[in-house]
Amino acid sequence: MDIGIDLGGTNIAIGLVDDQGHIIYKDSVPTNASRHYSEIIRDMFYLSEKVVQDAGYQLKDINTVGVGSPGIPDKEKGMILYANNLNFYNVPLKEEIQKMMNLPIFIDNDANCAAYAEAMVGAAKDVASSVTITLGTGIGSGVIIDNQIYSGFKGAGGELGHIVIQIGGEQCTCGRKGCWERYGSATALILQTKKAAKENPQSVIHELVNGNLDKINGKTAFDANWRWN
Ligand SMILES: [Zn+2]
Repeated sequence: MDIGIDLGGTNIAIGLVDDQGHIIYKDSVPTNASRHYSEIIRDMFYLSEKVVQDAGYQLKDINTVGVGSPGIPDKEKGMILYANNLNFYNVPLKEEIQKMMNLPIFIDNDANCAAYAEAMVGAAKDVASSVTITLGTGIGSGVIIDNQIYSGFKGAGGELGHIVIQIGGEQCTCGRKGCWERYGSATALILQTKKAAKENPQSVIHELVNGNLDKINGKTAFDANWRWN
């Protein structure tokens, strides 16, 4: 049995996974991402312990811990070099977790972990090579070639969200303009919904958010479409 930790910008989600790759128990807590990394890592430990106990097991029943984190990992050193939505710079994630749980710890970028999971036990399990796209605050991606994660140069080989799809387009947080993430992520959808609502005062969207466009979230456009039809 193993522990899988999904460290996100919004939530820390932890699953207890059996030897066939099935999640047998899971739980989550808010990340409160503005905190110092030591506090976030402490919560990762507390929740791991809680998930294992709530499922009726003990930490000694666990073989390994896998952590998917946003940002750019150094897999060898077990560090997160940089993650913009967590304020992580050179965080020794593996070492810090190991101080609390003396188990083999493996870390990688969250989208790579998602892609590997799909390749091993999910939608891509019957093929040797696949690409997984994760849509959220940003656009993440993981590339699997011959059943191996393709990390590429400096671990950034699979950053498909930062492919430029519109030359001279919307400004991206990565410094370039026109990245796919600026058009296809939940963040982009929220901006597009706000813009469309402003330009169309008669839109049902104004009604859905009681006239406060700051209340628009990733679901609002879908709710409005549902109402419209
Ligand atoms: Zn970009």
